[in-house]
Amino acid sequence: MGIEKNPIKSIEWIITDRCNYECSYCFQRSYAKRSHCSDEVTEASFGLFASLEGRWHIKLIGGEPLLHPRLLEMSEKIVEYGHCLSTTTNFSFPIHRLTEWSMQCGDRLVSVTASLHLNQVQSLTDFVGKCVAFNRLKSPGTHFAVTSVVTEDNFEQLKEIERDLDREGVLFAYQVMRVGGRFVKYPPEIEEHIGASLATNTSSLRDHRLFGTLCRTGELFFKIEVNGDAYRCLMPQALYSMGNITRGTFKRFARPLPCTSLICTCTTPANRNMILYGQKAHLWETVLAGLGGLPASLPHLSGKVRSRIRRRFRSR
Ligand code: SF4
Ligand code: SF4
Repeated sequence: MGIEKNPIKSIEWIITDRCNYECSYCFQRSYAKRSHCSDEVTEASFGLFASLEGRWHIKLIGGEPLLHPRLLEMSEKIVEYGHCLSTTTNFSFPIHRLTEWSMQCGDRLVSVTASLHLNQVQSLTDFVGKCVAFNRLKSPGTHFAVTSVVTEDNFEQLKEIERDLDREGVLFAYQVMRVGGRFVKYPPEIEEHIGASLATNTSSLRDHRLFGTLCRTGELFFKIEVNGDAYRCLMPQALYSMGNITRGTFKRFARPLPCTSLICTCTTPANRNMILYGQKAHLWETVLAGLGGLPASLPHLSGKVRSRIRRRFRSR
């Protein structure tokens, strides 16, 4: 059993499904026709954040989160309630907007990740220049890094970008591509190079099978969708749904519960120390927890996933 690290209480708040980019690989298909979270969901989220004890780390995500018209107010409220915030953005906005927002949040903006989408960025030189400028102008307490999904085709180009950014003191991390909900394996020369610069915790998730492992998601980590539905983590599974924050059905789990997903690519919960590696629930507890959570989660599980879960229960 590994040394247990302190969990960082966190929420992923999906404030919009819209995006100004059209990446062909976008699993959310976050294009212009999608919606921002409504005023009702925004107000319910504020109420929830105000009720949370201690400091929570609230990550604003999308789509492209910086498109939300109430972004500044959302950031202000999060700070006012004593929490901190972070975001992952495609970094397409002008540098003055990015720095103004960063200044407004100060050190409570603990992390900004600029996600580089090579096929959407108009000028790579401008993108790199903006990253260098932001790194200089941001609040000292804000961690800043650039990430990009590596493929066999873009590997050499990303290596060059990594070198350019490194020269300017900007962190760069490779993201591993996911296909069918799983991390892919690259040829050895790519694996060897990216090994030291992988987005944090990718390796630990790649190396473990977590079904039945106790996980604090649902208790100390959850995500809120644009429509106010709340979920334990990013992997649809039997124990998944936490209700809806606008309908009075939202409920946090009271303790760590077993993972009922056959795969896990949830790097953020892993980075927040939610997964209790090596601590497996008893099989009966996993089965009961899974069956208890199944009715609320059924709409999110495909028939294929449901039958794979049933097979797994039978084979243990
Ligand atoms: S930038 Fe992100 S959210 Fe927008 S289309 Fe690309 S992958 Fe999707
Ligand atoms: S999929 Fe990952 S984050 Fe989600 S419950 Fe399982 S171990 Fe935890």
